[in-house]
Amino acid sequence: MTAFMPVTDKVIEDLCAIVGPHNVSVDEEKRLAYSRDEVGVQFWDRQYCADVVVFPESTEHVSRIMAYANDKVIPVTPRGAGTGLSGGAVPAFGGIIMSFEKMNRILELDLENLTVTVEPGVVTSEIQSVAMKHSLQYAGDPCSGDASFIGGNVAENAGGNKVIKYGTTGANVLGLEVVLPSGEITWFGGKRRKDVTGLDLVHLMVGSEGTLGVVTKIILKLVPLQERIVDLLVPFEKVEDAISFVPKVITEAKIVPVALEFMDRRALKIVSRYLGSSLPFDDAGAHLIIQLEGNDPEVLADEYEKVGDMCLESGALEVFVADNRNFREKLWKARKGIAEAVMAFYTKYAKEDISVPIKEVPALIKAVDEVCRKWDLEAANYGHAGDGNVHINLLAGEDRVDWHEAIEGARIDLYEVTKKLGGTLSGEHGIGLKRKKYIGMFLDEAQIRLIKGIKQVFDPKGILNPGKLVE
Ligand SMILES: Cc1cc2nc3c(=O)[nH]c(=O)nc-3n(C[C@H](O)[C@H](O)[C@H](O)COP(=O)(O)OP(=O)(O)OC[C@H]3O[C@@H](n4cnc5c(N)ncnc54)[C@H](O)[C@@H]3O)c2cc1C
Repeated sequence: MTAFMPVTDKVIEDLCAIVGPHNVSVDEEKRLAYSRDEVGVQFWDRQYCADVVVFPESTEHVSRIMAYANDKVIPVTPRGAGTGLSGGAVPAFGGIIMSFEKMNRILELDLENLTVTVEPGVVTSEIQSVAMKHSLQYAGDPCSGDASFIGGNVAENAGGNKVIKYGTTGANVLGLEVVLPSGEITWFGGKRRKDVTGLDLVHLMVGSEGTLGVVTKIILKLVPLQERIVDLLVPFEKVEDAISFVPKVITEAKIVPVALEFMDRRALKIVSRYLGSSLPFDDAGAHLIIQLEGNDPEVLADEYEKVGDMCLESGALEVFVADNRNFREKLWKARKGIAEAVMAFYTKYAKEDISVPIKEVPALIKAVDEVCRKWDLEAANYGHAGDGNVHINLLAGEDRVDWHEAIEGARIDLYEVTKKLGGTLSGEHGIGLKRKKYIGMFLDEAQIRLIKGIKQVFDPKGILNPGKLVE
């Protein structure tokens, strides 16, 4: 591990000379606030705190900061909006936090090439809104999209609600301007749709959690916005029936929905309490939200009727058609609010991000019950069932003294099952600081050696976001 140099008064002075004193902060409150993400501080063994926060305004600023830090061997941790759920933006070795909140411009909307070029600090939902004004859509849609930055989405390869139809963030990224740890500025990809010249460095960068390079510009793909959207809210008495139904939409109805989301009874109860409002049949075992879209109202109606009938044949208690904005907003507010609601009511929990082949979701949910019985925990499960990514929340009572041990034991059991089902540790939240000790359960020695080798090539001094992934 690299021996890092301290951030002295001289370093602060030099950073001020690079980006201007108004873009440098050593204020303790600010340093602490910018040194955490949405992983609760109770999960860390110590308090992490950067020595200084910098706010670059341009690629040139980023390049000069990186060149300086590389020369002086000072760690740099890139930071988006801090909504991460893996501790990716936590400065494991102190040093510099590089916040992108001032690099927040939409640089170009290219209506002929159907691309939008943005800086990393643009809020995800702002890109969606801009595209929508031109009857286009940016299809990346994490539940945190009203707060997260696009640079954070790229670094985590964020998933979200529309992955079944449109893929993860990476599927919508065409090009990236990247500042390497040395300070060198380079472009991977561009506006072109096809490119096999060299290696696919765009998609090596996507999901690299800010450990290989700093993303300073992003070219995103846009697609035509469909004129009509319908969401079905479908309560099922039994959670098994809801989950078993999920693959049928594609395999039997032959329809690719935009979203196919799942919330079990406990997840819905927690979010209803948090929001102070509930959805119909809130005692049902589980609810599905199935979103369909299209331009032709008749085709769309045929599709949702077909899916609705199939739901009823598969044990659904009712099928609610949300074809108006109010109802749609209400049900998505519930779905998107679960993560926040869990954090509001619990301090002793594990928020898991398991991804399994779609067919194995029922087996995973069954295993969660067994694991919880063994460790005397409760679970609230929800997530992107349509793509096999389930957020399992293992919950311990607030008075539970041995919660740490119980949750850790349950977590290991859950990971063993996940592996047997052909699944993996994280579908979209990333490894960061939080999951790195478990990565060896899922990647073999050869893969870990390759990841370390790639890191060494990009960042020989190990200054960029150290202590993450496999380090
Ligand atoms: C309520 C809630 C709901 C969520 N829902 C989803 C969901 O549906 N799908 C999903 O995938 N995630 C979800 N998340 C997790 C989180 O929002 C995503 O991981 C998001 O992509 C993080 O973006 P951010 O801007 O907050 O990044 P941060 O948390 O600030 O940083 C994340 C990582 O990106 C790196 N990084 C940031 N900017 C750059 C850059 N310019 N260059 C290089 N590296 C950079 C950081 O170093 C860090 O490793 C949710 C989180 C919350 C709190």
